[in-house]
Amino acid sequence: MENNLLNIESKKEYFIQTFGCQMNEEDSEKLCGMLNRQGYVQTENKEDASIIIFNTCCVRENAENKVFGNVGDLKKLKKKNKDLIIAICGCMMQQKGMADKVLEMFPYVDIIFGTHNSYKFPEYLARVKQSGVQVKEILNKEDKIVEGIPIERKSNVKAFVTVMYGCNNFCTYCVVPYVRGRERSRKPEDIENEIKDLVAKGYKEITLLGQNVNSYGKGLEPHITFADLLRRINKIEGLERIRFMTSHPKDLTDELIYAIRDCDKLCEQIHLPVQSGSSRILKEMNRHYDRDQYLKLVRKIKKEIPNVSISTDIIIGFPGETEEDFNDTLSLVKEVEYDSAFTFIYSRRNNTPADKMENQIPEEIKHDRFNRLLEVTNEIIAKKNSTFEGKTVEVLVEGPSKNDPDKLMGRTRDGRLVNFTGKTENIGELVNVKITKAHAFSLIGEEI
Ligand code: SF4
Repeated sequence: MENNLLNIESKKEYFIQTFGCQMNEEDSEKLCGMLNRQGYVQTENKEDASIIIFNTCCVRENAENKVFGNVGDLKKLKKKNKDLIIAICGCMMQQKGMADKVLEMFPYVDIIFGTHNSYKFPEYLARVKQSGVQVKEILNKEDKIVEGIPIERKSNVKAFVTVMYGCNNFCTYCVVPYVRGRERSRKPEDIENEIKDLVAKGYKEITLLGQNVNSYGKGLEPHITFADLLRRINKIEGLERIRFMTSHPKDLTDELIYAIRDCDKLCEQIHLPVQSGSSRILKEMNRHYDRDQYLKLVRKIKKEIPNVSISTDIIIGFPGETEEDFNDTLSLVKEVEYDSAFTFIYSRRNNTPADKMENQIPEEIKHDRFNRLLEVTNEIIAKKNSTFEGKTVEVLVEGPSKNDPDKLMGRTRDGRLVNFTGKTENIGELVNVKITKAHAFSLIGEEI
């Protein structure tokens, strides 16, 4: 496809939209970093952009549909501005046959690339700008880990740092291992250097990211575990808080629990996706733990780490889920008393084993169970939040509150959102906040 690219240099603004998880957010920050280094600036307005990027997700069907809708809408813009470059990348493009489908539906797309080669974006951009030829490059095998890619971070206070890529677990409902490849860990010294650099720039909190952070270190020489990595990072001076996600329950070792207990910078917060409270369904999901093992793990975490907050992911309506299985999920939720929960209706994903399972659950049953679960989780979360009224908590001030511009917002060590009256000069600092009121999903307070 030929493009008229004569005036491309006159307007150096880009628009980027990210779908999906924090890993995608971090990938987008790298795409922004690479573009900023070339002199582009980000715009919130597609009309002003000479480059539009969609970084896609394929974990749920509605995210895919949104991408199709968004790219379809660009046809008018592309007609008006022939110089506009449209790029689509991320997990959805990595799915078999998807890139070709997108190009067939939207032939005006200029660049398509997958999850393993996003560091090559500047090269693809240069190719399109120089020759006007459409670029499609999806690598089927994970490439080497590329270090030193510039990153344009959204926050000046807290940052995501990916420590490993990919997943080996093959849960039967999930596409991630197919689109993100097998597990690869970054070298600990590269991670440490990145964090030291962030601390030197004033960052106070980092969240270590990986699809399954607990299995960090496999294949690295010399041998290192995720707990070892946490203990090393905990020694970095100037860093105040460390978080990590996501933990697979089967890989959450005692060694890791003790590291969280012992390291002062590690926040008392664990995201521990359970997905279902039914051992039968967990087996069908290929999760490698059962209900009792999960509950035993939760009891151990609560015993070793006082005031820990535990959050989770739950899928409702997995194929074959009976009312009894669903009730097992409800009773598990009540027993664990999660501090927050991300609940999802099961979404069929092509080429996954669960997609081929019989006994897919009718939509109305899924929605009914989802609403009943939401009622229970919301009640528990609100009850837990209410225990904070009158207490003083440490908050890392992130910036103005999104709900009320006269207030500031930040999070407690255990991850609760706090909107509070305080001093703007303390943005980026740790402050003490007295909680005056608890809402269902946030706390209200005053800096003291
Ligand atoms: S652990 Fe399971 S749900 Fe998580 S990314 Fe891997 S396959 Fe997907």
